[in-house]
Parts: sequence; C-alpha cells; structure tokens
Amino acid sequence: MALKFSINATISPPNQGKALSFQALVINPFFFFPFFIYKFIIWFSRVMTVKVNYKNSSKTLKNVKNLVNKIGVPSIAPSPHESLQKGNWVKLICGASFEDVVDIRNLSLVYTLAGVDCIDCAADASVVSAVNQGIEAAREILPVRRPWTMISVNDDEDLHFRKAEFDPDDCPLDCSRPCEKACPADAILLEGKKPTAEVANGTDMLGESKGGVITERCYGCGRCFPVCPYNKIREVTYVRDATATAQLVKRNDVDAIEIHTSGSRQITPFEELWDGLGDSVRNLRLVAVSLPNNGETTIPSMNKMYTIMEPRLSCFNLWQLDGRPMSGDIGRGATRESIAFAVQLVAAKDRPPGFLQLAGGTNAHTVAGLKREGLFRKSITKHLTDEKSTANALIGGIAYGGYARKIVGRVLNSLQSQHGLALIEDHPDHLLEALQEAIALVGTVKCYDDPFLTH
Ligand code: SF4
Ligand code: SF4
Repeated sequence: MALKFSINATISPPNQGKALSFQALVINPFFFFPFFIYKFIIWFSRVMTVKVNYKNSSKTLKNVKNLVNKIGVPSIAPSPHESLQKGNWVKLICGASFEDVVDIRNLSLVYTLAGVDCIDCAADASVVSAVNQGIEAAREILPVRRPWTMISVNDDEDLHFRKAEFDPDDCPLDCSRPCEKACPADAILLEGKKPTAEVANGTDMLGESKGGVITERCYGCGRCFPVCPYNKIREVTYVRDATATAQLVKRNDVDAIEIHTSGSRQITPFEELWDGLGDSVRNLRLVAVSLPNNGETTIPSMNKMYTIMEPRLSCFNLWQLDGRPMSGDIGRGATRESIAFAVQLVAAKDRPPGFLQLAGGTNAHTVAGLKREGLFRKSITKHLTDEKSTANALIGGIAYGGYARKIVGRVLNSLQSQHGLALIEDHPDHLLEALQEAIALVGTVKCYDDPFLTH
C-alpha cells in the first residue's frame, strides 16, 4: 500500500500582504542579483588564489632548481664510489629502526637533491620502497645522480635495533610526561587523558588515555627510559632475520648493506649472519660494518670479520666508526668520540682493507674536527703503499643521522601540521626551506661553497 502525505497551509489574512510581497520579490530577477554577485566574488577569489598559489609554487620550485644548479649538484656529483675515494662521501642515516615511510620518503627526496651518496634505512621492504620513491621524486625535479640505497641489519643485540614501549593506561594521571619532551623523534604522543569516574571519586589514579609510543617513529635512542619517574618504559630489542634480509638484497633497489656489530663479543653471530646472507651479497656495491670503539680489541676483531667476509666479498667494503651512537643532534661535543675513533683507526697500520667513515654523534661540527686532526680529504698514501690505495682519502666520508633528521625534521613537522601527510614537492616553499638546511650540512663535506673543490 502506497502512503501519501500532503501539507495544506493557509496564510492568515494579516500575513497575506507579506506573502504577496515575498512572491513578488522571488519572481523579480533583481532579487537574486546581489546573491549572484556574492557567489561570483567567492568563485573569482578562489580562482585567483589558486592562480596566485600556483604562480608562487612554480616560482618557488624554480628557486629550488636554481639553488641545486647554483651549487652544481647535478654536474659535480661523482659516483658514490668516487666520493669515498676523494673523502667527500655523505650518507644520510634514516635510522635502522625508523619506519615512518612518509618522513623517510620526504627526507630521501630532500637529501638526494642536496647531493648525498647513500641513504641508509631499515631493512624493511616498505621502508626501502619509500627511500627509492623519494630518490625518484627528486630526480623528476632535477636529474641529480642517484644515491645508493643501503639497508641496516644487526648480528646480535644492538642499540639501533630496539623500540621503546609502554602502556599509557599504566601512567599515573599526575605525571608531567617528561618522556614526551625527551623524545627527539616525536615518537611519544599522549593525549586525551581524562580522569575516569573512579579518579573523580579519588579511588583510582588511572584514566582513559590514548597514544603512547608511535612504534614506526621510535628509533631506539633510549632517551625516554631514564626520564620516566615511574619506570614504565620498556626496551624491546630485535634482530633482523638473515633470510628475509637476503631476499630484500636480491631486489634490484638495494645497493648496499650495513652490518651493525658489537665488535667485542663472540664473532659467531657475525659469521652466522654473513653465512645467512649467502650469495645475495654478490648483488651489492658496498658492504659496510658498523662497530663501536672497543680500544685495543677493535683492530683484531675487524681483521677477523674481514677474513669471514673476504671469500664472498665481491664489492667495496667500508668500516663505519660509530663514535657515540644516535647523539649527533645533542650538541657540538657529540662528535668528539667519532673523531677520536677515526684518529685511532687511521694510525693503525694493521687494520683490514676498506674505507673508513664516521658516524655516531656526527653533526655540523664534524668536518671542523676532522680538519683540526688533519684528516679531512687527506690522501692515504703516507700509510699504505699498494697502488690501489694511493688514490683513497684517509677518511672516506661522514654519515649523518639524528642531526640530519633534526634540521630537516623541523620543516617536515611544519609541513605536516599545515597540510597533513603531504609530499614535500607539492609544497615548494617547504621543500626550499628543507633543502637549504640539507645543503648547509652536506655542503660542509662536499665543499659546495668552495669553487675549487667542487669541480
Ligand atoms: S627510544 Fe628514543 S625515539 Fe624511541 S620513544 Fe624513546 S626517546 Fe623516542
Ligand atoms: S614519563 Fe613515564 S609515567 Fe610519565 S607519561 Fe611517560 S611513560 Fe608514563
């Protein structure tokens, strides 16, 4: 059965005059005229805003290209291998445990334009894809040389391979949240914590809460652990699986691998990892080993590791001197330990073959420190005599992690707060700002400001 509704309305005599005049207005075309004018102004101003924004964006993107061309990145960038030989290799460390693919893509784009030789990231397929997407997006803006993509793995427990974890529901309501402030990666977010009815009654110290550690942003620096007054933060460590890593290496978008090792404990975990990687390592252009300074035992363990690698090492190898891990963003002094490590290794004549590269605490002061020690872009000829080595620099280059992410991260944060999860090239003003920061750092090694060294 169909239902029918009808509305009958009558206009009372006192209102009939008003109804007639309203009708007259509606059928009069001039009644809508101001409305059309208003709509036209809105439409016109929107079109003009889009046009002006587009014009400004194109102008800013042109400034980005001009900046990169002015310092000569596309034309001067030698191959990553040549950079190692000359001593001006620069690696961006995204972080062995950092897995925020949006930031990683944007960071990779910015530092590719700035001329880095290598981008080091977590050994995870989606992270590797994000790095390569950033690189390709940069190369669509300008035909810069492609940096190598490196993945980081560990042979045993290692500071770089851990995550912080806590349950925000366990946190007392009156905690001032020092963990949030201590985190350099904005990986702790506590919001919406409201007292429950029990709290209001004074019977419970817990409340409804959201957030906690954003796992993909945590890179394991450990700064939140000691600041928690209630000891609520746990450390979760992990070891990357060798078989999964071997599969990843076989993809055609991974150029290099870095093995993080303690260098002091048993050599067996290193050997097992190397065996587990099997023939996949033959696809690589570079194998790096990252190790801390273990004093007198450093060189003997480097020699042992080299002996293990040598039979299947068909590419270049590099020793990453991890001075003070994950501390470059802390301040000027953080770089001292990596420089002291470099001084020690350069003086060691019995060290195994391989380029030397600084990391761990590296920042804008690292090059000045190397210069003071006479190690910046200096030839190796004094120390080794074989013909191949004579062309190489004493120190192949520098890897920047926390500091590099911090200076560009400020711009990425502002991009995200204004536009959400955005591609940085869609906002050229942000791209220009980020690129200026990146070039200022990379340029200290590449000597962009010195016309005699850039060509
Ligand atoms: S370990 Fe470091 S990065 Fe991770 S949550 Fe703690 S402070 Fe942040
Ligand atoms: S400092 Fe500790 S107790 Fe306080 S919010 Fe952070 S994790 Fe929770």
